Amino acid sequence: MSHKTKILCTLGPATSSEESIAALMDAGANVFRLNMSHAKHEWAAEMTRIVRHLSQQRGGHHAVLFDLTGPSIRTGDLKEPFKLAEDDAVEFRKAGAEASVDFSTTVNYDGLMEDVSAGNTLVVDNGALLMRIEKVEADRILCRVKTPGSMGSRRHINLPGVRLNLPALTDKDRADLALAVECGADFIAGSFVRDCAHVRELRETMNSLDGEAQIIAKLEDQEAVRNLDAIIREADVIMIARGDLGTEVEFEELPLLQRRIIKRCHEIGTRVIVATQLLESMIQNPTPTRAEVTDVMNAAYEEADVLMLSGETSVGRYPVRCVDALVRIITRIERTAGQGFGQAMLLTDERRKVARAAVTLADSLPEARLVVLTRRGVLANQVAMLRPRTTGFFAVTPRESVCRQLALTRGVRPIKMAFSSNIEETIKRVSNELLKLDLAPKGAPLVIVSDVLSDHFGANSILLHHA
Ligand code: PGA
Ligand code: MN
Repeated sequence: MSHKTKILCTLGPATSSEESIAALMDAGANVFRLNMSHAKHEWAAEMTRIVRHLSQQRGGHHAVLFDLTGPSIRTGDLKEPFKLAEDDAVEFRKAGAEASVDFSTTVNYDGLMEDVSAGNTLVVDNGALLMRIEKVEADRILCRVKTPGSMGSRRHINLPGVRLNLPALTDKDRADLALAVECGADFIAGSFVRDCAHVRELRETMNSLDGEAQIIAKLEDQEAVRNLDAIIREADVIMIARGDLGTEVEFEELPLLQRRIIKRCHEIGTRVIVATQLLESMIQNPTPTRAEVTDVMNAAYEEADVLMLSGETSVGRYPVRCVDALVRIITRIERTAGQGFGQAMLLTDERRKVARAAVTLADSLPEARLVVLTRRGVLANQVAMLRPRTTGFFAVTPRESVCRQLALTRGVRPIKMAFSSNIEETIKRVSNELLKLDLAPKGAPLVIVSDVLSDHFGANSILLHHA
C-alpha cells in the first residue's frame, strides 16, 4: 500500500459512472460516501452495487458510507431568491403563520423560536449571509441582515453557540437508514450529533433493523465539542465536519479544535476523519492552492485515519486529480515522522497493553511486518491507533465485512483468510500469503498479535516468527 492515510470520496453527479468510480479506486480511494442530503434512493442503491462489483473485481475491500442528513434547519421554498442588502429585515416563521415583512420565509423547525434569543447570530448557507436576531415571537423570528447577499430555497441555517432541541433522527433519516441497512452499508454517519445519546439512538435504530454498519459521529457544532469525550467513546469513528463546525465556531478556533479532537481520539482509541474543503479550489482548478497542500499535509501529519473529499469528487471538474493530489501529499509527509499522538493512547485494558508491546517490538526490528489476527477488527483498530511505524501492517480476518470496515483505519491492509483451528497452520498460511503477495521478503520478522482463541494459543498473545 502506498499511503497509510485512507481516502474517502463523496460520489455525486461528477462520479456516478462505473468508469469514474473505477478511476477513483485505482487512484487510491478506499471508501465511498453517499450524501443522503442529495442522493435519491435508487441512485444510492445503484452506487453501492457498482462499488461492490468494482471492488470485488480488484480483490479489494472498499467500503460504502451512507451519510444521513440529520436534523438540519433550512429555509422554506421561495419563488425566487431574496436579494438582501445590509440592514434589510428578514423573517423566519412557522408554517401556517402569515408573513409580516417582504422578506419572509418559513423554516422547517418549529422549536426554533424557543431555542434562540435576540442578539444571537444566524448564519445562512455556510456563511454566505450573516444576520442578527432582533426579535423573537411565538410564531416567528425577525432578523436584521449584517452582510448582503442572496438567500435561496432550502438553505442551511446555523446558529453558532445556540443549544438546539432538535431530535437526533428525522423521519427522512429513518427512511435513509433503512435503505442503508438494506444496501448492506459498512458505515452510517449521523450528522449534527450533539451528545452520546444521539449516537446511541442511531446505533439502536440500526440494530433494530438488523444492520451491521459501524457508526460515524459527525462533530458539527459547539454542543458536540462540549460533549466530546462521551461522543468519542460512543462512536466507532469520529468525523471532524469542518464545513458546519467552521461556521459554528470562530474560524481561528478551527485548527486548534481539529488538533484537540484528533489527539483525544488517539487517547480514547477511536478512529478520526478530517472532512471538508481539503482541496476546495480543485472543484474548478486542476491543481491545489498552496494553502490546501499545507492543510492536507497538516491533517496527515496529525495522523488522522482518513481524509475526506466532498464537492471535489461529487461535483468537481477533476475528481481523479484530487485523489492523485491527496496521494502525492500524504505519501510525502508519511516519509517523515508524524505528530505521534498514538503514544498517548490510554492503555485501559490488557488487550491494549499487548497491542502496545507488539507495536514496540515490530518498530524495533528492521524489516519487521506487523500482523494482527482479528475476528471483529477491534484489536486491529487498537493496534492501528498506536500508529506503528512499519509500512507492513496487516490485519488478517476471515470476515469480508471486517476487511471493509478497516477501510477507515490508518495504515492497515486487510487480508481475508480463514483461520485454522491449529495455530501453526494459521501462521504458515499468513506467512505464505505475505510471501506470495510480495508483501514480505523471505526471512523477514513477522510480529503476530492476536486475540483469537485456538489450541495452544491463548487470547492476547504476541508471537515472533520469520517469513
Ligand atoms: P456535510 O458534512 O458535507 O454533510 O455538511 C460535512 C461538514 O459539515 O463538514
Ligand atoms: Mn455538515
